[in-house]
Amino acid sequence: MVQHRLRSRLAALLTAFVLASCTADSARLQSTGSSDLEVNEGASKGESLVVTGGTVVTLDDSDTIIESGAVAVVEGRIAAVGTEQEIRKQFPEAREISAEGGIIMPGLVNAHTHIPMTLFRGLADDLELMDWLENHIFPAEAAFVDEEFVRWGTKLACLEMLQGGTTTFVDMYFYEDAIAEEVDRCGMRALLSQTLFDFPAPDNETWEEMIEAIRLFVDRWQDHPRITPVIAPHAPYTVSGENLVEAFALATELDVPMNIHLAEDKDEVVTIRNKTGMTPVQYVDSLGILDDRVLAAHMVWPTESEIEILAANGVGVAHCPQSNMKVSAGIAPVPKMIAAGVAVGLGTDGTASNNDLNLWEEIDTAAKLHKVDTLDPTVIPARTALRMATIDGARAIGLEDQIGSLEVGKRADLIVVGTDGIHQQPYYDIYSLLVYSTKASDVRMAMIEGKVVMQDDEVLTVDADEVLAMAWEYQGKIAANVAGSDAVAH
Ligand SMILES: [Zn+2]
Repeated sequence: MVQHRLRSRLAALLTAFVLASCTADSARLQSTGSSDLEVNEGASKGESLVVTGGTVVTLDDSDTIIESGAVAVVEGRIAAVGTEQEIRKQFPEAREISAEGGIIMPGLVNAHTHIPMTLFRGLADDLELMDWLENHIFPAEAAFVDEEFVRWGTKLACLEMLQGGTTTFVDMYFYEDAIAEEVDRCGMRALLSQTLFDFPAPDNETWEEMIEAIRLFVDRWQDHPRITPVIAPHAPYTVSGENLVEAFALATELDVPMNIHLAEDKDEVVTIRNKTGMTPVQYVDSLGILDDRVLAAHMVWPTESEIEILAANGVGVAHCPQSNMKVSAGIAPVPKMIAAGVAVGLGTDGTASNNDLNLWEEIDTAAKLHKVDTLDPTVIPARTALRMATIDGARAIGLEDQIGSLEVGKRADLIVVGTDGIHQQPYYDIYSLLVYSTKASDVRMAMIEGKVVMQDDEVLTVDADEVLAMAWEYQGKIAANVAGSDAVAH
């Protein structure tokens, strides 16, 4: 999150603000056989249902596509993937959900965001960073970020993500225990990262309090079927080397992922080099805190040798192309990272620097940005971009065995995408259709852990009217609070 990065340059100011954050292959029936289906809390226990009639884009290792396909779901997990005819024969009693004319595919994975900040959407754009920070973001966070704010921001974000077909996301903010409660109610899957700083955060004053809060947070949520607690030392310039080592040791002890902003912009590279004589990835590697539990957000400025370090240690990367563009952070060397074997997912980052949670735009942007950067239209082809938002994103966040593709035994996190928009017709290739023509508003249905959470543009787990009313209530208060604001009234 950019404001956090900037905050590091303003340590004294930060302390004062305290709260400032900061085709068609032959149809293939995958039988359950002796699958280890189990009943999970939150799953539709005992219920079997079949999503039928659409083109199934599996995103499996063979990129299997099944026309007139279907996916069977039993007790929250995918029980079979095949042709409509085959699945109906195998599951004659199952409730049917029609995907007629649409595409059935895995739900999207947003690998990096700060969801409560959705209430700050578009608060301040196109400004010099210091002006943006000091006169807009800091005052707003200092005045408004508390547990209640975080809950309403989370509900608004879940509403937006579910309408657009995002079923899993990775958050990094404060009050993550409250966020987890709201995410649980919304029915989404998430990795929720409680942030650690060397200085006071909105929810905890001291490092010791932060560590204690994280232990309680992990203990409460670690066995939840959809929520994964995560430890998030914010960045190598806001957390000391000693504390980074302690945070990693705690993540290892508690066996949870670790999330960190790393190599986000050139200033960070200079700061870390001046402090340690090393570049950011080199530095954290020297601390011994890189392994496959680590998710690194942004990774705009790794050197060639650092890319090798990331690959060798199994570090996942969350690429946030639109945020990096909007704040002029730079262009991450994604083709090189992918070529080296690094798992690269896609993230929106927070809405204060994007300004939405629309992963379809990130897919489209990722596919195009690296073409213009390398002057090579063959890099990041459509299929690769779509994999970044699904199975490769799942790999980056360590959930590739659970989600990211439509395969037997995986969690039933899937979406149905309409193909009847004028902007989608005609089409010749399904990946081209999904990456370059499809919009978030084309998503018709979203299912998570076997439960339908969005149908025909209506999110079933969030009271949209209530959330939008609260969002505008906050907007009124925030707009009135920001000095010199010319924010619109509603
Ligand atoms: Zn961030």
